[in-house]
Amino acid sequence: MSITKNLQSVQQNIPPHVRLVAVSKFHPNEAIEEAYKCGQRIFGESRVQELVQKESSLPKDIEWHFIGHLQTNKIKQIVPSVTMIHAIDSERLLSEINLHAQKANRTISCLLQIHIAKEETKFGFSFDDCREFIASNRWQKFENIEIAGLMGMATYTENKIQVRNEFKSLHLFFQELKTTQFKEKNYFCELSMGMSDDYQLAIEEGSTLVRIGSTIFGNRNY
Ligand SMILES: *Cc1c(COP(=O)(O)O)cnc(C)c1O
Repeated sequence: MSITKNLQSVQQNIPPHVRLVAVSKFHPNEAIEEAYKCGQRIFGESRVQELVQKESSLPKDIEWHFIGHLQTNKIKQIVPSVTMIHAIDSERLLSEINLHAQKANRTISCLLQIHIAKEETKFGFSFDDCREFIASNRWQKFENIEIAGLMGMATYTENKIQVRNEFKSLHLFFQELKTTQFKEKNYFCELSMGMSDDYQLAIEEGSTLVRIGSTIFGNRNY
């Protein structure tokens, strides 16, 4: 199967209110160019150096999303080129991004990652820690950041009921914030959930951004 065919079939499975982040990490520029020719404009990367290199050599109308675990010492490098950062898991990270965004005179959309999986290996705020942070209103002082919504990764399991329930819990929490502290904030509108194996479920449970890699580009060579 070609990238073009894979991408077209994914696009057919995604309703118009959901946007596709084509996760191109570990794949070469040629793979991205093929997807670009099919109209794909949002690409997701999880390593800073890789994103920066690809951004400098590929078309300028690509929207780059950073979807990996971001280290504070690398923020500076991606700030000029990134449109959205998906996996914010601490106030400190948000605060550091704000500083660099300020220096670069940019506003960056950020998603707070919530730990919804039953796996220790995954990152993210707990519901309670996130609730507390949002209620503190400290995020309001980060003038060069827009908290555009939430992101989560479900447990890696065959159990579809569990995966669905994890997505459901994230959607509920999103609604909670949307109707309280973010009521007047129209930019708080994104729910990033769903990957190759579970994006259909995620869409049924309210996802607005799906992050799909291997179904489009094939297996990654780490
Ligand atoms: C790699 C990655 C994806 C894409 O995973 P696939 O299973 O290849 O679709 C999505 N989200 C995050 C955070 C990732 O790191």
